[in-house]
Amino acid sequence: MNNIAVLDKSTVDKIAAGEVIERPASVVKELVENAIDAGANAVTVEIKEGGISFIRITDNGEGIPADQVPLAFLRHATSKIKKVEDLLSVASLGFRGEALSSIAAVCQVELITKTAGSITGCRYIIEGGQEKSQEEIGAPEGTTFLVRNLFFNTPARKKFLKSPMTEAGYISDIMERMALSHPEVSFKFINNNQTRLHTSGNTNLKDIIYGIYGRDIAGNLIEIKDFGSGGPVELKGFIGKPVISRGNRNYENYFINGRYIKSKIISKAIEDAYKTFMMQHKYPFTALHFTIDGSYLDVNVHPTKMELRFANNEEMYRFVYEAVKAGLTHRELIPQVTVGK
Ligand code: ADP
Ligand code: MG
Repeated sequence: MNNIAVLDKSTVDKIAAGEVIERPASVVKELVENAIDAGANAVTVEIKEGGISFIRITDNGEGIPADQVPLAFLRHATSKIKKVEDLLSVASLGFRGEALSSIAAVCQVELITKTAGSITGCRYIIEGGQEKSQEEIGAPEGTTFLVRNLFFNTPARKKFLKSPMTEAGYISDIMERMALSHPEVSFKFINNNQTRLHTSGNTNLKDIIYGIYGRDIAGNLIEIKDFGSGGPVELKGFIGKPVISRGNRNYENYFINGRYIKSKIISKAIEDAYKTFMMQHKYPFTALHFTIDGSYLDVNVHPTKMELRFANNEEMYRFVYEAVKAGLTHRELIPQVTVGK
């Protein structure tokens, strides 16, 4: 038998990276979330070759102080929580401190960042978890990550990537969700030098829906206005009239505290509310924003944070069901009959 030995840092980081970074879209998701957490109101994402060879993300957020840059790339290094109790009130999208170390472990990363308080910016290069250089550089306020050659040092994982077109499609999906979940941020997505998405950041959710899904969808929406206002769960956004239902769940979007998530409970409640309005195996369009009290949630269920737990599933189901049902039975759905014409 071989001797037992603790794995070295680079091996540990590569293994850990596997949980967070699966494909180029994971890199985009993590870095855009960081930009939002940094208070940016403009985020530009440029990709080439489906993000496999090139991803550049520029934000106008608060930047990282030069002396903290190497720290940011350590595993479990975060400025967002200090102790486990903070998880109850965490308002940021990130908090596990795993993204930068994971990305740096399997890519070639160049970071340029500058805070408002410093005169010069900082340029930092790290490849495969190995720090290459750090220097002062002139830079605008904010942060730019240039991420090249995903999985360059883990060829076995690179083989599992799909074609650049498919990978670009995953990134496009992420960008659309980011735009829908943060109408207050202006997003620009450029694929192979072509602008694919550009939102204004004017907070108008309907404009964003129009930009992504077109007039057919945007013209057939029912607004849910501040349902449950004042309680632990509040809901607002749009649901589609039954005429714009789809054959799959791809148009069911909902966000909790600004985070795109998947939830069987919420989907079931939405679909049950639509049941009498729609044919079987049809799914509605939704773009719903939940604001939920932190004490009512556990977000730390999965590394990608796509799933979470509610304090009370039945209450949550009821709440969503009633909100959607109320929207659907609203008067504007009933055909207006004009008498005596
Ligand atoms: P987490 O987001 O969970 O804190 P990350 O590994 O994604 O962990 O990031 C580590 C830290 O680096 C963050 O807590 C933050 O302080 C800093 N950081 C990362 N990206 C940015 C950015 N775009 N702007 C400002 N600070 C950032
Ligand atoms: Mg993060």
